[in-house]
Amino acid sequence: MSFPIQLYVHVPFCEKKCHYCDFASWELPAVQQRRWTEIILKEIAVRAPLAQGRPVDTVFFGGGTPSLLATEFLERILAEIRSLYDLSRLREMSIECNPSSLKKEKLDLYHRLGFTRMSIGIQSFHADELIRLGRVHTPQAARLALETLAADGRFQFSGDLIFGVPGQTEKSFLASLEILIALGPDHVSFYGLTIEDGTEFARQQASGVLIMPEDGIYNVMYTAGVAMLRRHGYHRYEVSNFCKPGKPSLHNQGYWNGVEYLAFGPGAHSLYAGKRTVSPRSFEGYLDWGVGGFAPAACTEEILSADNLVSEAVLLGLRQSDGVHLGRLREMGFTLPEDVLGKWEKVGMLSRDGGAIRLIDEGWLFLDEIGSDLLARGKAAPVEVFR
Ligand code: SF4
Repeated sequence: MSFPIQLYVHVPFCEKKCHYCDFASWELPAVQQRRWTEIILKEIAVRAPLAQGRPVDTVFFGGGTPSLLATEFLERILAEIRSLYDLSRLREMSIECNPSSLKKEKLDLYHRLGFTRMSIGIQSFHADELIRLGRVHTPQAARLALETLAADGRFQFSGDLIFGVPGQTEKSFLASLEILIALGPDHVSFYGLTIEDGTEFARQQASGVLIMPEDGIYNVMYTAGVAMLRRHGYHRYEVSNFCKPGKPSLHNQGYWNGVEYLAFGPGAHSLYAGKRTVSPRSFEGYLDWGVGGFAPAACTEEILSADNLVSEAVLLGLRQSDGVHLGRLREMGFTLPEDVLGKWEKVGMLSRDGGAIRLIDEGWLFLDEIGSDLLARGKAAPVEVFR
């Protein structure tokens, strides 16, 4: 039996660059969509042999703002994927959308093309917060997009929020979350704002005009958000991702579980054959790379060592409510001594059952610390120390 793989298409176009965003995305004139499409079609074809005929489990169009992509180009890209990859066992096909670019006619198009799931970048339902974040949409547009999706009923859909926005309070964050929940998404993601180099927020911070909330407020907002989602029947299946029963993002779960994937577009990360590769990140750099024949030497490549694989298994496993399977670590030659696990169990942050360790309660707030501790004090030797 051949293991499935996943496909990711990075669509780098945005109406306007958000103040916090360091993704490979740009405000580009529509004419650039054609140039990008011609190259990505070639990349999809050039990389097809790497899939070795394996079935594709999920396809994800991310960005950027994929919903800005002209119909003609989206159709051509999907036709190329369908002709070169085995989609007969496809379980999910997602597209990220900005509320302002999601129209009723688009839903008919996406349904016809086979999309099953939409991820909508909401971020906040407060106009002042949206303006501060540099978003192009209004709270009304966000509501309308989600109401349209709910009434349509043909897609699973997810809404994203950001917390820790300058000027945001716990009350305003929870008010946004409450509005989102009332609009009935199958899935909710929320992320704490971080300031990334090269962004408008980094410039504002350097010049002293951006005052970030105190660190402690992040934990308060996160914990209150988790509690609200739980009350409304959303299960935390990953530290920042929540879903109604049976409605996780299968594509993202694949990433966290080490499923191999091929990714197309500028700055796209792929994982296959034990290595991670990253395509040239700038828009023109990516196009030039394609024109020159997609030379592998132009990509960043990281061969995943045994240590890398253990780190990923521990850190990505801890992020998920399913936790880290100790048997899998043992197969990788890595064991966690009893005293290391016991230390975190004793303080009520980690539990052990069914052969797995999982974060519990406050442990979710200490994911990085616990992960680092387990990796630093675990043993890369098959010592049998488990209950
Ligand atoms: S819409 Fe998304 S990808 Fe585009 S600039 Fe804003 S955060 Fe970045």
